[in-house]
Parts: sequence; C-alpha cells; structure tokens
Amino acid sequence: MLHGYCPPARYLPYLSWTQIAALPDRANTVVVLPAGSTEQHGPHLPCAVDTIIAAGVMGHALARLPAEVPAYALSPIHYGKSDEHLHFPGTVTLDGTTLLETVTQVGESVYRMGFRKLLIVNAHGGQPQVMEMAARELRLRHGDYVVLPHFTWRVPHAAGRFLSEREKRLSMHAGHAETAILMALAPETVHMQHAVAAYPPEFPSKVLSPDGRPACAWTARDFGDSGVIGDPLPATPEQGREILDSLAESWAQGITDLHRLRWVERDSQSWGRAHHGGDIAGA
Ligand SMILES: [Zn+2]
Repeated sequence: MLHGYCPPARYLPYLSWTQIAALPDRANTVVVLPAGSTEQHGPHLPCAVDTIIAAGVMGHALARLPAEVPAYALSPIHYGKSDEHLHFPGTVTLDGTTLLETVTQVGESVYRMGFRKLLIVNAHGGQPQVMEMAARELRLRHGDYVVLPHFTWRVPHAAGRFLSEREKRLSMHAGHAETAILMALAPETVHMQHAVAAYPPEFPSKVLSPDGRPACAWTARDFGDSGVIGDPLPATPEQGREILDSLAESWAQGITDLHRLRWVERDSQSWGRAHHGGDIAGA
C-alpha cells in the first residue's frame, strides 16, 4: 500500500476529508513532507535512495511518537532537482523552478486544510536551497505558518562512529552512510558485488575550500564513471540499523518539539502588505 514506511494511522492521505476537517488542534499538528529524488546512486544502489531515506526515516520517527503528539506524513516527493546526475540512466529530474513551485503549492494546500506547522525533511543534497526558498515564500504569504525546511541527516545520528575521516570529509553520494542505511531500509535493492569507491580530488585551494571538498559546481560524472562519490565498501546492515534508529529517535524528538513550539506572534496579513510595498523597511 501507499503508506510505505509510515504507520497507516499517521499517513495523511489515508484520512477522508471529513476526518481531516474534524481533527482537533490542526494549528499545532505537525505535517511532515519527506522530500527525495529519483537519481542514480552508483551501480550498487537503487535510484530511489533519497526517497527511501526521507520516507523511511520519517516513517520510523512517526512510528515511535507517543500517541498524544499529533503528526501526519504526506506522500513523499519522489522527483527532485537531480540535474547533476542526468548523465546516468535512471535519473528523473525536475528543474529548480518546477520543484520550487511544487513544494510551494503542496505547502499552500497544507495551509488551506488548516494546518500551521509544516516540516519538510529533504534527503537529497542537491536541493536544500529549493526547500528553503519554498519555506520563505510560504512564510511571506502566511504570517501564521511555521514552515521548517530541514535535511534528513542534519540531526544527531550514529553514522559518525562508523565513517573514516576521509569519508566524513569527501563523501557526497552513495557512500558509506547511505549504503548502510539502505541495507536496513531496503536490503533487497542493495547489490554490494557491484560496489566501488570513488572520491573527488582534494580541492586545490585551502582558502576557497579549507576541508578540501569541491568548492565549484560539479556533476557526478566529473568524479568518474561509477556515479559514486565516497566509499560504500565498509557498510554493514548492523551499522545501517543503528544509524536508522538514531535518526528516527532524533526526528521523533524534533517532531515533538515542533508540536509544542510556540513561535513568535506574527501578522497573518504580511503577504498582502509586502506586495503593496507598505512597510518593507530598508529594502
Ligand atoms: Zn543520495
């Protein structure tokens, strides 16, 4: 069924419109939008990696929420901005403006239902900027809308215990952490007999890139033919389960915090005012 990793009772599209209309305290109910992508992840991982991670981690987080914390997941965004991988088959990409418009309109729909807290949890490294732009746009339109654009991996988790220093610094795609968590979430899609390691060269300017990571725009093909940017070989299912557990624990806490959060009082008319140019100070 469609809910995937999400507990059915926490999957918003399974509710009828009358059930949604009758939900108490929609203003403090957290709506989670997992954002993934469909793009090559090397020869050993499926193209759905980022969607599996976003939906899988949030599904596990929702499953461990106490019943008194109201939160629901939307269907994940399966297609993202993946043009850095378009040289490889399997990649399905939207352009940035289409994705921006998609996320903004999904956010508008959530607002229209009466919800006021939207948590966007993105797992694809090529599109956090788009999520941030959509969140800012929604906030400008609706002063009472709390929209949090976030990244699946940017909460405390256990992966650091398993990764080498080089991996922590230079791995960007289909490396150790992504491979391990896929072994936990979708083991039937992982084919380690095809796994290879490939790191980008150290960036040749300490000023422009103190840690040696690529400082200029890149496409995956710049770093070799495999599509891998990192070393997936040391990954194990046990590590994957620990990483998944730690991420789910952190996100369950994050959702709980967002449910309780009382953010600054704001004027719900701010969109209209901004567009009439009345009070934009210093702009
Ligand atoms: Zn990925």
